[in-house]
Amino acid sequence: MQEELLHSVVKLTKTRDVDSLESSLLSTIHEFIGCQQVSIYKSTAVKTGLVVECSLGLEVIDQKQYCWKESEIIEKPSSELLSCLNSACIIAIQSHDGVEKRWIPITLSDQPIGAITIVSQALSSADQVLLNAFCCIYENYLTILHENERDKLTGLLNRQTFDKKLKQLIEKQVVKHHKTLKSNKDRLEHKESVSWLAMLDIDHFKQVNDSYGHVCGDEVLLILAQTMERFFSPTDLLFRFGGEEFVLVFEPVTFEEIESLLSDFVALVRRTKFPFVDKLTVSIGVSKVGPYDFPIHVLENADRALYAAKDNGRDQICFFDSLTHCPEQPKGNEDDGVDLF
Ligand code: GH3
Ligand code: MG
Ligand code: MG
Repeated sequence: MQEELLHSVVKLTKTRDVDSLESSLLSTIHEFIGCQQVSIYKSTAVKTGLVVECSLGLEVIDQKQYCWKESEIIEKPSSELLSCLNSACIIAIQSHDGVEKRWIPITLSDQPIGAITIVSQALSSADQVLLNAFCCIYENYLTILHENERDKLTGLLNRQTFDKKLKQLIEKQVVKHHKTLKSNKDRLEHKESVSWLAMLDIDHFKQVNDSYGHVCGDEVLLILAQTMERFFSPTDLLFRFGGEEFVLVFEPVTFEEIESLLSDFVALVRRTKFPFVDKLTVSIGVSKVGPYDFPIHVLENADRALYAAKDNGRDQICFFDSLTHCPEQPKGNEDDGVDLF
C-alpha cells in the first residue's frame, strides 16, 4: 500500500500541465479511497457574480469501469458547493443509506478557486486523512504550475505558455467545427463566430522610461495589466508577451463584437489616469484564429496588423483582414476582408 501510495504521488507530481494533474488526482482518489463519483469544480468571479465550472468528473459505472465527464458550466451550483467556495471549509453530508457527499475547498494564494467533491460510502478517518492529503498535494502543485505560467511583474500569462494555450483553444475549435459541420443549418449559424488574437503594444513607451525611469515604467505596465484583467472576461487569455507588448486571445465572437470590445478598451486606456504619465495610448493588431491555423502564422498576422496601426498614427485597432485587402487604408473597411481561414 505504502509503495503504491508513493507511486501515485510521483505520478501526480510528474505532470506539467493542469489538465493532466486534474485527471491524475481524480483517478488517484478513485483508486485509493473508492467512490461513486469524484469531480473538480472551479469558480471564477465575474462582474455578474460567480461562474462555476465542473472542469472534470469521474463517474463509476461498475466495479471495473468508470467514465470521464467533460467540462461544463454549472448553471445552478448546489448550496453546499457555494458554501464550500465561500467559506473555504470542508463540508460533508450523509444520507440515510450511508452515502456521503463531501466538498473540499481548493485555494490558490489563500483565495478559494474551486472544490473537489466526492460521493462515496461514509469515509473512515484514515480515508479522510488520505483524501485531504491528496487534495493538499494537488493544491501545492497547482500553485507551482500556476506560478510557472505567470509573468512575475504583471501576473498575466507568460510567453512560454502561449503555444500550449493557443493549441488547446485551436483543438477545442476543431472539435466544435466538426460538430457544426454535421448540419448545414448549424454551419450557417456559427459562420460569423470565430476566435480572435490581438497583439497590443503601448505607444511611445520608451519615452515613459526615458522621462520617469524604469521603475515608473514598470508601475505603468502593472496598472495596464490590471486594467485589462478587470475589463476583459476571465475566459479570455491575457499574455504579457515581451516588455510592453501583450497578446490577448478571445473565444469565438463576431467581428462586430470584437471590434466594439477592443475599441472600448483603446478608449478606456486613453482616458485612464496612469501615474506620472499624462496620456497613455495603445495600438492593437487583430487576426482571426481559424481551427487549422498554426500559432506562429496567427501571431505574424496580428503583428503585421499592429505595425499598420502604428504606421497609421497609433492609438487605434487594425484588423489583418482589412490590411490584405486595402493596405492603403488599414483602418476601417473590415467588412471587405477575405475569410482567410
Ligand atoms: P512604439 O509606439 O513604436 O511602440 O514605441 P515604443 O517606444 O513603445 O517602442 P520601442 O520598441 O522603441 O521601446 C519599447 C521600450 O519598452 C524600450 C524599453 O525601455 C521598454 N521596456 C521593455 N521592457 C520593459 C520592462 O519590463 N519594464 C520597463 N519599465 N520598460 C520596458
Ligand atoms: Mg511600444
Ligand atoms: Mg514593442
